[in-house]
Amino acid sequence: MSDMKTETLVLHAGWRADPTTGSVAVPIHQTTSYQFHDTDHAASLFSLSELGNIYTRLQNPTTDVLEQRIAALEGGAAALGVASGQTASTMAVQNLARAGDNIVSSTDLYGGTWNLFANTMKDMGIEVRFADPSDSQSFADAVDDKTRAFYAETLPNPKLNVFPIQQVADIGRAHGIPLIMDNTAAPTLCRPFDHGAAVVVYSTTKYIGGHGTSIGGVIVDGGNFDWEAAGDRQPTLNSPDPSYHGAVWSEAAKPLGPIAYILKARTTLLRDMGAAMSPFNAFMFLQGMETLALRMKAHCENANQVAAWLGDQKGVTKVFHPSLMDGEMRARADAVMNGGYGALMGFELEGGMEAGKKFIDNLELLYHVANIGDARSLAIHPASTTHSQLSAEDQMASGVTPGYVRLSIGIEHIDDIIADISQALSKV
Ligand code: PLP
Repeated sequence: MSDMKTETLVLHAGWRADPTTGSVAVPIHQTTSYQFHDTDHAASLFSLSELGNIYTRLQNPTTDVLEQRIAALEGGAAALGVASGQTASTMAVQNLARAGDNIVSSTDLYGGTWNLFANTMKDMGIEVRFADPSDSQSFADAVDDKTRAFYAETLPNPKLNVFPIQQVADIGRAHGIPLIMDNTAAPTLCRPFDHGAAVVVYSTTKYIGGHGTSIGGVIVDGGNFDWEAAGDRQPTLNSPDPSYHGAVWSEAAKPLGPIAYILKARTTLLRDMGAAMSPFNAFMFLQGMETLALRMKAHCENANQVAAWLGDQKGVTKVFHPSLMDGEMRARADAVMNGGYGALMGFELEGGMEAGKKFIDNLELLYHVANIGDARSLAIHPASTTHSQLSAEDQMASGVTPGYVRLSIGIEHIDDIIADISQALSKV
């Protein structure tokens, strides 16, 4: 199954049919708990000598299929479904960094992740050091003996410069430091494990769900990082864990496969903090995944056309989309993106803040929402919404100019998308 192509994996990985009923659709296992066969069975599940269902906070058969399907899609070893993309980012870091430790993150991040890293992680005692994604060496420069992970997004908005995954992953590996990639904007287009990343996180809320119905997240373990060799660099996986009878995760996971990282996340962080994915949402994400490859192609084709068209419009001073880039940025995009450059884009209006707001108010087909990755086309004016709490200086530093508009191009007919953007622009 794992050598099958993306279009097949999104439909088939992790499931054939229900062994008792023959159900082809994955059933929604809306249950909290699972009857043990006997006390020996219960004991072996709790001691992890056998993996199986105990309680839905820890695992659920519906969520399990989603986890297997996403792990297969990414070419990873195993995955963990959680309550949201934010939970995935939080737990991916906490699984390696404890109070007193640090991680090094790209500055180009979704605003919610920026807040998590700059404020909430700081309150937890985890320092996040920010590095410049245009200079891979800045990651190396920020490392000290307490650095436990690198973190970045594949296709971060607003600038949409593809992250140099391989360069930064290689720097990390030389120090025993894994690269965690948020691949939310590029499922099926980029497989970060193929370029050296060790962990992938998703907000499944976006393209994987695809229809704007459910909040969720997934952490994927690449199974490609030698935690044991990293020694003292990775104490959470290489020293006895008092919360699990002194288990050393890099040892304890061996009989189960290269899944030490995700096994620890499930059996300690998810157990203790409880931010589990609901089985109903897992079902919705499985449903979304069936058309993910098809949708991503349609998203990308439409986005290329919108980007090219926008570049010729009066009053539009700049368009941000990898399809329009050249030089190093285009080379980076071509090195990791397969089958398209994603469907997020931005453009700047000559008229600044007022023009940006007016454009949004004039839209009739595109939705004005704080979301991305929906099948519908979406738009937002960051300076007056998502980035309005930032000072003018910080807005500029993050790439959000007063006239910047963000688009998440959907899968409607291209003529209708362009017609709506065109009429909204004509009234600015
Ligand atoms: N990562 C990226 C790139 C996002 O765009 C978002 C949400 O917009 C998140 C993570 C957080 O995901 P969620 O809203 O599912 O918590």
